[in-house]
Amino acid sequence: MGKLLRGSSKNARFFIVDTKDIVQEALDIHKCSPTAIKAFGRLLTGAVMMGETLKGNDLLTLRTNTDGLLNQMLVTTDANGGVKGYLSNSEVDLEIKDGEVPKVGDLVGKGTLTVIKDMGLKEPYVGISQMVSGEIGEDIAYYYYTSEQIPSVVVLGVSLGSDMRVKNAGGYMIQLLPNASESFIAKLEAKIKVMRPMTELLAGGMSLKGIAKLIYDDMDSKDELRLVEDYNVYEEKKVSYKCNCSKDKFYKGLITINKDELKEIFTEKPELEVECHFCMKKYSFVEKELLG
Ligand SMILES: [Zn+2]
Repeated sequence: MGKLLRGSSKNARFFIVDTKDIVQEALDIHKCSPTAIKAFGRLLTGAVMMGETLKGNDLLTLRTNTDGLLNQMLVTTDANGGVKGYLSNSEVDLEIKDGEVPKVGDLVGKGTLTVIKDMGLKEPYVGISQMVSGEIGEDIAYYYYTSEQIPSVVVLGVSLGSDMRVKNAGGYMIQLLPNASESFIAKLEAKIKVMRPMTELLAGGMSLKGIAKLIYDDMDSKDELRLVEDYNVYEEKKVSYKCNCSKDKFYKGLITINKDELKEIFTEKPELEVECHFCMKKYSFVEKELLG
């Protein structure tokens, strides 16, 4: 189970999340290469926080379409801390050159980030923005700034152990509220510059509450306990990798296929097997189930 903290202050709202278990589950399901799981894990982590801005049964989907080897990723999240996704070319990676670990942005490349919010209305909201770096965090921040006019800081990280399992994963997202003061913005920018990477904070054993305090800690004050401004934590909740597929859902999709096409499939083999992209679970149907 991952954990998420949500809160706000006069000038900003924030989301802080530990997604180690979510990213490990994604790695187990999709068998990603080291750099691919860093990219996909960051997208899952960003999505979980973005999902916190949803209500009720809303769904939010992030889709990347880029020119790198990892050219497509799709992640869907709900308002209840559930997230799932899939990606193309999950096993590809870049070579380690001169001992330097490949960058996420080099595997993902440049392209577009599509954000789809299904709020139960006739048409979903669709926002498209450029993937400016392929590093995911910056790309989500860029989306918020250009499509929703919300200045945001999005920091995401995934680290792996020498056993290639997920060691730490998580992130934080800080969004300025309308009319945020210049002095708050200046202090926040200065703070973000000196913050250690998210995976290091988690590796050091820092709690999500501790990270919130670190973000709001006033560096200009000699008093160690002084905050830039007071903040409230509204919620601390569990988040997880969750797929809600079922045989019935696939059945509903399959019966929309042309009957002749289905018959054709069953002349070649006795069973039609379908696989869920999100969790790799397989469901099989015999002719009687679909053609009665
Ligand atoms: Zn599934």
